[in-house]
Amino acid sequence: MLENKIVEDLILRYNSPVPRYTSYPTALEFGALEDSALAKSYGALDTAKPLSVYIHLPFCANQCLYCGCNVLLSRRIDVVDSYLPLLLDEIRLKTQLLHNGEGGKPLVSQIHFGGGTPNFLHLSHWDLLFEGLHRYFDFTTDAEMSVELDPAVLTEGYLPHLRKLGFNRVSYGVQDVTSKVLEAVNRPQNIDHIKDVVVESRREGFSSVNIDLIYGLPHQTLESYQSNLAFIQELMPDRIALFSYAHVPWLKHHQRRLDASALTTPTEKLRIYLSARERFEKMGYEQIGMDHFGLPGDSLTEAYRNKTLHRNFMGYTTQKTLDMLAFGTSAIGFVSGVYMQNHIKMSGYRNAIQNQNAWFEKGFAMSTEDALRHEIITQLMSNFQIRFKEIEEQYGIHFTEHFAREMTDLEHYVEEGHAEMDSTHFETTETGSFIIRHIASVFDAYRKGSEQKGFSKAI
Ligand code: SF4
Repeated sequence: MLENKIVEDLILRYNSPVPRYTSYPTALEFGALEDSALAKSYGALDTAKPLSVYIHLPFCANQCLYCGCNVLLSRRIDVVDSYLPLLLDEIRLKTQLLHNGEGGKPLVSQIHFGGGTPNFLHLSHWDLLFEGLHRYFDFTTDAEMSVELDPAVLTEGYLPHLRKLGFNRVSYGVQDVTSKVLEAVNRPQNIDHIKDVVVESRREGFSSVNIDLIYGLPHQTLESYQSNLAFIQELMPDRIALFSYAHVPWLKHHQRRLDASALTTPTEKLRIYLSARERFEKMGYEQIGMDHFGLPGDSLTEAYRNKTLHRNFMGYTTQKTLDMLAFGTSAIGFVSGVYMQNHIKMSGYRNAIQNQNAWFEKGFAMSTEDALRHEIITQLMSNFQIRFKEIEEQYGIHFTEHFAREMTDLEHYVEEGHAEMDSTHFETTETGSFIIRHIASVFDAYRKGSEQKGFSKAI
């Protein structure tokens, strides 16, 4: 465990706003994108390589106050009845733009359903959705098919049905198990029911079960957090995502309803993180990237060990599929070097599909320099290192010449003991891993003014 003084020093010096780099450039750099970008980027896609697909199912019946997702609140199931035909139309229209060599269907090796609460859907909705998906895509035999579920509202018979459709990975948002915290964030949930759900997932044969926890919520303390760690120890999921709460009430207005005076202090937050990390390691987990932990044998754990981990909007992944087709309200795709975000509001999304124009909320077309910096930032955020030669070979540059200014910043982190560097590579030390967002921002050509842009704080 790090000494108290080092913890205090890290907080004092580095607890400033900085991006999480789920994309580079970050979504705040996105701007207006012409409709022509759609046909151009889809038409240029190399469909010989398997694709990654993301589908956004935005509905939730209840507003959790910490939520940072794009959600449509509703208690009426008929919202799904009108959403699914739009979604399938969107998939049909966009896949028509792909060039499939023999005219076959594009091949998908990874599909992820996020939300919102995907299990807001009834099982008949899933049947309809999959009937459509099989119309437009083929799936590799070992395709990763994953879904985010809210275990608190998961009904009987749901998991076996998803397994029959082909799902093999499931991720549960739990966040905290103590009633005081759950009340403060407006997330009622029965912990015993959640335990049963996790046990059932194993029984049903999901090959990977992930649990999300958050630290930094109101009323969490180092002491109260031990209940969350005991909960993990009892269930031993294959993966744990331990997210730092991002308090951005200026972007997510419902967060204003949280009692900000009860929020965990930065020092307590870092202590909770360190204590969780130590306990997870004792349980046999290994740290994966910035905020994930996995059991040995899990594919993400192995990828991190081999330094082949990658990162996209969905988090960490073993597959270096830069291209991701994304469907549904607010979904962000990345195709042939172009980020494209769908409309966030249902009305805009519906109009785009029905009129087949004004497709985007916003987007960004990457330059070669952006792609180079994207690769370096992804390597840092995923594997905590940069291998200079690999970057040089991939992009035809001389690293230290191309990044002369950035090298000075990297040397500064080395002098401070947060990293080690030689002529072949740069790699963070333990303290450097806590401030990886700051270190990655060295390569962010748009980083100036992070404070004004309203990113969450690093710790
Ligand atoms: S269930 Fe998830 S997506 Fe829905 S409001 Fe809560 S945190 Fe947000």
